[in-house]
Amino acid sequence: MLFENEYLGNVYENLEKRNFGEKEFLQAASEVFASLECVLKRYPALEKEGVFERLVEPERFIQFRVPWVDDSGNIRVNRGFRVEFNSAVGPYKGGLRFHPTVNASVIKFLGFEQVFKNALTGLPMGGGKGGSDFNPKGKSDGEVMRFCQSFMAELFRHIGPNTDVPAGDIGVGAREIGYLFGYYKKLTNSFTGVLTGKGLSYGGSLFRTQATGYGLCYYVQNMLKILKGTSLEGKTVLVSGSGNVAIYAAVKATELGAKVVAMSDSNGYIYDKDGVRLDVVKNIKLQRRGRIREYVDEVKTATYKDNFKDIWAIPCDVALACATQNELDEKSAELLIKNGVCCVGEGANMPSTANAVDMFLKAGVAFGPGKAANAGGVACSGLEMSQNSMRYSWTFDEVEAKIKDIMNNIFEKGYAASKEYGEPGNLVLGSNIAGFSKVCEAMLAQGIV
Ligand code: NDP
Repeated sequence: MLFENEYLGNVYENLEKRNFGEKEFLQAASEVFASLECVLKRYPALEKEGVFERLVEPERFIQFRVPWVDDSGNIRVNRGFRVEFNSAVGPYKGGLRFHPTVNASVIKFLGFEQVFKNALTGLPMGGGKGGSDFNPKGKSDGEVMRFCQSFMAELFRHIGPNTDVPAGDIGVGAREIGYLFGYYKKLTNSFTGVLTGKGLSYGGSLFRTQATGYGLCYYVQNMLKILKGTSLEGKTVLVSGSGNVAIYAAVKATELGAKVVAMSDSNGYIYDKDGVRLDVVKNIKLQRRGRIREYVDEVKTATYKDNFKDIWAIPCDVALACATQNELDEKSAELLIKNGVCCVGEGANMPSTANAVDMFLKAGVAFGPGKAANAGGVACSGLEMSQNSMRYSWTFDEVEAKIKDIMNNIFEKGYAASKEYGEPGNLVLGSNIAGFSKVCEAMLAQGIV
């Protein structure tokens, strides 16, 4: 039995049966359950309320056909998803991911994590997630637009500014959000804040692009200060990925005095001992939609190696995992610990495997789980929703100050819960408990729904 508590063990066993083979979803659920065993011990009445059974069953799960026509006139068919996981705290909120690896398990794991993350922000947002196995890489703008329109032709029935508010994620950036928003507006004849991550000319929030990466660094600063008595100043940092989260995490870490020496994409990684030149990375990834290997064409002192996972073999003080789920495994954790890493922050969702997390915690590495450390993005989206409702917009500095506050609070809540439950500094435990407490209280107040 995975859990000491018999009731929790039975709920999990049933979950495995009902979601057979969905390894990412089961991984996320078992991590949360493991953290909540001590809560259940303190509040055994939760069993009678069926809170755990309800928590792991999405309120709604939608799967749909997305047919579209490519530039050569061929008909293509992808699969679309939206999971509306939990609306106890507010309207469903969570991004859309377009990537060939997307399936029901990935969408459910992301939606489940989102429930706790959104609760931690303190803003009124429930949890949801969606996406498709469509791969935008190598597609023309016309193809991406036709795909987005077909995707929205179904999704529009399920979303709304007070119901469910999607945003971007891997493969869904400003271009895709623009096409999705435009089609929603046409279908419903209404201009509302139904999506976040919008362009600034039609209701987007300043700071949204930077929010997740910068927020991660604010969170890491808290971890370093409180748990290690130090700061990012002078630290050597690895950042995996080179997308939205990775780039802005690298920018803020550099601004805070750290030296980022490596970045990656799904093919490989670059190492630049002098500190990665972020103007070059931005140009390659954001302007040209190119590959990270192109960095060495412009910066001759840097090196490129295939196999993105090997980035974790480079000695560093701080590791920021900002690419995708399960990118940092046991072997990588072992190398990082051996080389003296003192802090690991998750910019991506569940980038560390369960074993890797255990190893970091046992080795005394300060470990910031994604649902807390990368919440800056969705917090900014929550602020975008508020601005849209008020028909108002805050300045860049105003939004940044609010996000900084929210990230400090998220750290505080997780740290306080870790102390209250006897494992000071275990932010996995603390963040799961703090997020759960809010969702659970709201669920209990609303009856059996
Ligand atoms: P992007 O699409 O902008 O970038 C993703 C990066 O990760 C790219 O460098 C990509 O490389 C790499 N990557 C993607 N899939 C894989 C894979 N299977 N193996 C190795 N590398 C991979 O996405 P984001 O930066 O927006 O998202 C990154 C992570 O952060 C995700 O886990 C996302 O859920 C999470 N997140 C994002 C938020 C946001 O505000 N954007 C908010 C909170 C969490 P390549 O170009 O080769 O595909």
